[in-house]
Amino acid sequence: MRPDRPDTLRPPGTVRPPNETCHALERRLRAHTRGDVLFDAASRGRYATDASIYQIDPVGVFVPVDADDVAAALDIARDMKVPVLPRGAGTSQCGQTVGAALVVDTTRHLRKVLELDVPNRRVVVEPGLVLDHLNAQLRPHGLWYPVDVSTSAQATLGGMAGNNSCGSRSIAYGNMVHNVLGATAWLSSGELLEFGPLASLSGRARRIGEAVRELAETHRADIEARWPKVMRRVGGYNLDIFCNQSERPYTADGSVNLAHLLVGSEGTLAFTRSLALQLAPLPRARVLGVVNFPSFRKAMESAQHIVQLGPTAVELVDRIMIELSLANPAFRPTVEAAIVGRPDAVLLVEFAGDDRAELLRRLASLVELMADLGLPGHVVEMPDEAPQKALWDVRKAGLNIMMSLKGDGKPVSFIEDCAVPLEHLADYTDALTEVFARHGTHGTWYAHASVGTLHVRPILDMRRGGPDGGAAKMRAIAEEASALVRRFKGAYSGEHGDGLCRGEWVEWQFGTALGEAFRAIKREFDPAHLFNPGKIVDTPKMDDAALFRFAPPEAPRPYRRIEIRPVLDWSAWNVQNDPVTERTTAPGTGGDTTGGFAMAVEMCNNNGHCRKFDAGTMCPSYRVTRDERHLTRGRANTLRLALSGQLPDPLGPDALASDDVRDAMELCVGCKGCRRECPTGVDMARMKIEFLAHYKARHGHGLRDRLVARLPDYAHRASALPWLANLRDALPGAAWLSEKLLGLSARRSLPRWRADTFWRSADAANFASRDDTVAAARAGRPAAVLFVDTFNGTFESENAWAAARVLRAAGCTVHTLARAGAHHCCGRTYLASGRVDDARRKAGELIDALAPLAEAGVAVVGLEPSCLFTLRDEALVMGLGPRAETVAAQALMFEEYLARELDAGRLHLPLGPLDPPGRRLLVHGHCHQKAFGAVGAVLRLLQRIPGAKPELIESSCCGMAGSFGYEAEHHDVSMQMAEAALLPALRAAPDAIVVADGTSCRHQIADGARREALHVARLLARLL
Ligand SMILES: Cc1cc2nc3c(=O)[nH]c(=O)nc-3n(C[C@H](O)[C@H](O)[C@H](O)COP(=O)(O)OP(=O)(O)OC[C@H]3O[C@@H](n4cnc5c(N)ncnc54)[C@H](O)[C@@H]3O)c2cc1C
Ligand code: SF4
Ligand code: SF4
Repeated sequence: MRPDRPDTLRPPGTVRPPNETCHALERRLRAHTRGDVLFDAASRGRYATDASIYQIDPVGVFVPVDADDVAAALDIARDMKVPVLPRGAGTSQCGQTVGAALVVDTTRHLRKVLELDVPNRRVVVEPGLVLDHLNAQLRPHGLWYPVDVSTSAQATLGGMAGNNSCGSRSIAYGNMVHNVLGATAWLSSGELLEFGPLASLSGRARRIGEAVRELAETHRADIEARWPKVMRRVGGYNLDIFCNQSERPYTADGSVNLAHLLVGSEGTLAFTRSLALQLAPLPRARVLGVVNFPSFRKAMESAQHIVQLGPTAVELVDRIMIELSLANPAFRPTVEAAIVGRPDAVLLVEFAGDDRAELLRRLASLVELMADLGLPGHVVEMPDEAPQKALWDVRKAGLNIMMSLKGDGKPVSFIEDCAVPLEHLADYTDALTEVFARHGTHGTWYAHASVGTLHVRPILDMRRGGPDGGAAKMRAIAEEASALVRRFKGAYSGEHGDGLCRGEWVEWQFGTALGEAFRAIKREFDPAHLFNPGKIVDTPKMDDAALFRFAPPEAPRPYRRIEIRPVLDWSAWNVQNDPVTERTTAPGTGGDTTGGFAMAVEMCNNNGHCRKFDAGTMCPSYRVTRDERHLTRGRANTLRLALSGQLPDPLGPDALASDDVRDAMELCVGCKGCRRECPTGVDMARMKIEFLAHYKARHGHGLRDRLVARLPDYAHRASALPWLANLRDALPGAAWLSEKLLGLSARRSLPRWRADTFWRSADAANFASRDDTVAAARAGRPAAVLFVDTFNGTFESENAWAAARVLRAAGCTVHTLARAGAHHCCGRTYLASGRVDDARRKAGELIDALAPLAEAGVAVVGLEPSCLFTLRDEALVMGLGPRAETVAAQALMFEEYLARELDAGRLHLPLGPLDPPGRRLLVHGHCHQKAFGAVGAVLRLLQRIPGAKPELIESSCCGMAGSFGYEAEHHDVSMQMAEAALLPALRAAPDAIVVADGTSCRHQIADGARREALHVARLLARLL
């Protein structure tokens, strides 16, 4: 075992100062700043990782409210000699955003556009502004910031400048460094300096510039000899601003801009306060040619010729990704439309500009070029935007599938952006593929063929130690890859920066003398060594196992999972994989002491995709609070720390019952947005159930919990005396009392009880008998059992009646379940309280009742998304056996079933027009409908109404989320979630009909917008 080195011998930036210093820093920050000061172990743990394989415990985290707050924090840190690490979204792949420093998160408050100069196409922004958010503000002006990184929805301009980021279209627009005009930044001395064209600078900035110029002149010969001559070189400091070595000069007139030295400096030289950026006109048109190659090598050889046509992007998708996409029914049609036969690789070649005719001419030249290169008929032309967008989406999803590999072996990023001149691309990729094979692994290739930067991640198990372990293989592969990069005169660090995994390669790339020059630059800017120590200069070894997130056995603190007995079945994650074939072992064989729960949690690779505000659902609580703790990533990290005993007071097998975990899970509304939208399928809603079960087992259930969970059990009795049950909203003071005693918000009305529940009504007699329904199904006729849940059955019976009417009118035989003095329930309210045993009992009874029908082929049709999807989701991991699978296979939302049968022509539904016919029709999708892709079915059904044009409201969770919005402590955040998009959209369309299938969504809309929303079944029933 490697001896644990004393802290004084550890590389800079890897060890926290003594506790007294950290406590004193915390106290001073609290006293003299206004931002959030987060020094507890869980908060630090959430900032101890980025999208790399590393983990370093920071000194603490500071979330400044404005620039003055940053300046104050810098003064305190300097005074206490505590390092500072500026941080954006933390999506860096090389570990540049982790360190034993005070991490300063700019994303919450420092995100304003400070100046916009449209005629000169110039903008000044704060560092925490996200690229997509900037571009959304620029779009009305016909402008954009064209460094289009794949993480555009998360990446901040400060982080992009820190890493000298590059987008898919860098061949046309260059890297970050080519598009930064200036910067204002604090030095470690506390001085706030303007950086821009050197000739215009004075004072300290000018002196720094002149000192660095001298360095460049001293080392000119070395720079010319050692500097990679490719555009995609982001390693080291940009000393070549004084004698340009890039394929694309940094400035049009060859002048020196000192801000360019800060670009790519990874927060090691200065803390950026604002950035001045050069904007570009938004191209009016794009056309795409998909070139199909019979061999990967041919694709690589052709890239150099294709770029001569002036494309804005040339992106590679290899055979493995094509096959993964073809295996996905949703993507298959798009991919099939783009490929010819079975290509080994495709290149997506995009031409963009204002003159569409000219773009089409270039597309034609591509076709000609490929014919000249021996591939006539191998280009699929896509002149229209819709198929282009669909294909770009497939490319992104293919990467996600690759990243979602289960087991301890994962695609690891450390040589994934070496850049080589295009004429060597084919030889380089061939040789690297052989290197992988020699080390018993393989990688999938994709991305930026236009600039010789292909992404590839070999699969390695970083927690495995010894000569065959991940670290040893990583070192060996890195060394062989670097030799190839040298042979082909490329750049070892071509896109994602140096950080921890490439820091030690900076001197390898540039030589010792330039390494010394970089140290001199660091001293010139940051003599106090305040900023992000241990990056770019004096860096740790890439395979320093003490810095790994999943440290192997020989590391000082190896990664270990605690032992717990999960309440849900996580065995699908408890597997291992073969790094060559990617085949996984049988469920339950992965060796996880938590039954697979920890392995499911560890699927989060910190890529930060959940930090998004655009379309989709994930993550509603983060959208409101912008707090890392309330982000899917923050939750997954907190769970991982708990499950590996890394939180203080680890509580042994009760680790999940800690307050830290509770605080992180508190605002998770269980919307399942992450289940669908997280690239690696982190399903936090299911994890919340697991957490709640452990937490409540230790801390007990409160009265409110019991009242909510047991609702299905007492609903029948309570509805017999509705006036009594409704007193809470009728008697003055009763709501107030319910808040004090139960924690139910007095600002909320509760659902109204009524005696005429679905189950009491005489109309029940109109349903077909079970035998008749089974007979209809067996005879091949449409037959369904209407599963009426507690909410629709008790409080909104008209929805259930309407559904039955519509189904019958369409020609379906409809049965429903009956139960004397009660009704069947899926167990959802118990799951939401973490009472998994009770949920299992309820769901088991329901499944027993439904299974004979499902086995006969009768569709199980539900109305409430959270209940119906319980049958397709949680019921399958509660140990209910194969009957649960049979029922799940038949379980469909009302709209899914009806749309499917109508589309197939097995049912027919005559519908009249809306009143008035052109009335707007807005649809709000329940989160679980979105998570299971069922919203499209609602739209398809509504399109059957003559003249109707249903519009989907682009909204995340409505904020009610079961009982969440009724809970006094969550009322405000619940309303903020609703106000984020849903309620403003409704207010903007006061006359529209609103369709919402979720019972809590309808309640939220009634409370927040004073509007009635209808279940789709009710609207259709009205039009019969
Ligand atoms: C799935 C995935 C895809 C990616 N695709 C791309 C891609 O297409 N192109 C690409 O270039 N990169 C890509 N990356 C890497 C990463 O997303 C980008 O480098 C991104 O620009 C980083 O932005 P961020 O806000 O997350 O910065 P962070 O990771 O938070 O920070 C990056 C660096 O900037 C420094 N920094 C941040 N703010 C400041 C400040 N105010 N002052 C001084 N220094 C500061 C930090 O200290 C750090 O060294 C990808 C990453 C992932 C996970
Ligand atoms: S939860 Fe998913 S989306 Fe969020 S960082 Fe982790 S892997 Fe990425
Ligand atoms: S279930 Fe919803 S609220 Fe919870 S983490 Fe996932 S996206 Fe966020």
